[in-house]
Amino acid sequence: MSSAELRLEGIAKTFGEVVALDQVSLTVQRGELLTILGPSGSGKTTLLKVVAGFETPDQGSVKVDGVEIARLPPAERDIGMVFQNYALFPHLNVRRNVAFPLEMRNTAKGEIERRVTDALNLVELAGFDERLPRQLSGGQQQRVALARAIVFNPRLLLLDEPFGALDRKLREMLQLEVRRLQQRLGLTTIFITHDQEEALVLSDRIAVMSKGSILQIASRSEIYERPVNDFVADFVGESNIFHGAVSAQNTITLDNGRVLQVRSDATPGKRLGVLMRPERFSSSGANVFAGEVLEAIYLGASFKLRLRCESGMELLVRQPARGKLPAKADRLTVGIDADELHLFDL
Ligand code: ATP
Repeated sequence: MSSAELRLEGIAKTFGEVVALDQVSLTVQRGELLTILGPSGSGKTTLLKVVAGFETPDQGSVKVDGVEIARLPPAERDIGMVFQNYALFPHLNVRRNVAFPLEMRNTAKGEIERRVTDALNLVELAGFDERLPRQLSGGQQQRVALARAIVFNPRLLLLDEPFGALDRKLREMLQLEVRRLQQRLGLTTIFITHDQEEALVLSDRIAVMSKGSILQIASRSEIYERPVNDFVADFVGESNIFHGAVSAQNTITLDNGRVLQVRSDATPGKRLGVLMRPERFSSSGANVFAGEVLEAIYLGASFKLRLRCESGMELLVRQPARGKLPAKADRLTVGIDADELHLFDL
């Protein structure tokens, strides 16, 4: 069986008063890795459970290659899964853990041996066959879980914060490993995370979720460069977000009184959000801000500065770490061009 297209249409799920999913629709292309990114409680896990068959939606359809699967039991969906807390069988060794889904499917013995060996090779755990889960590190246990999720050639792979419990270095290594493996096998994959950096590293596309709804689904650069609203702009990356109204052609007057040069042909009076990414400032530009340094943090590759400008407007600015770190109360002037500002509807 090969990888499939997944299409969700109008999925709704409530738990009593809580609307966990509110009319969610999305398509994951064959071989694509889609990350679902959102804060705790936004409905990510519920969405994955609906796809896996552990929750029945109140409304909506789940189609794999055009075939409705919303009523199929989990075991018949042909979906591989990895969760945050490994859930390996503690009393079975690595080989038996990975063989389990094949045994459930009554695969022939020789075939099981061959496929388990392949899967363990893929996750670089050849030679660990006889170990018990407790004799493995957290990262190794997650690799076993991954091998078990892919060993039966699933049509979809679902990963729910699989590296949440691991330290940063290991997490970064496994992110790259998963990405390589997923691309090599051409596996249609949904990866859930609340970590925006993880989403940026891994994805073909990102779906940003909040309160049971998908706010934006787009490529990584689109999400970062052209977020559709305050929430997405704020959740992905660092941001300076202001609101204002168009006051003339290519001009916005912010609610704090500051006038900005922008690129917009919106009619005067229209209210817009303005996003300025901290790294897009330089020493000059169409919009210049003179301010006082409130905070200066040395981050190795860059300086992170908080400036207070006229009328109390605060800006977060990132500068390449060259020369001396500005000191608190230093005066500093930064600028940003109209092209570097992103505008969104309010
Ligand atoms: P986290 O990142 O913390 O895992 P999440 O985005 O995965 O969060 P969900 O676990 O999908 O969020 O939960 C969405 C909402 O639905 C939450 O308000 C949660 O409390 C609620 N919820 C989820 N499962 C149940 C359940 N079985 N019974 C009642 N409420 C539930």
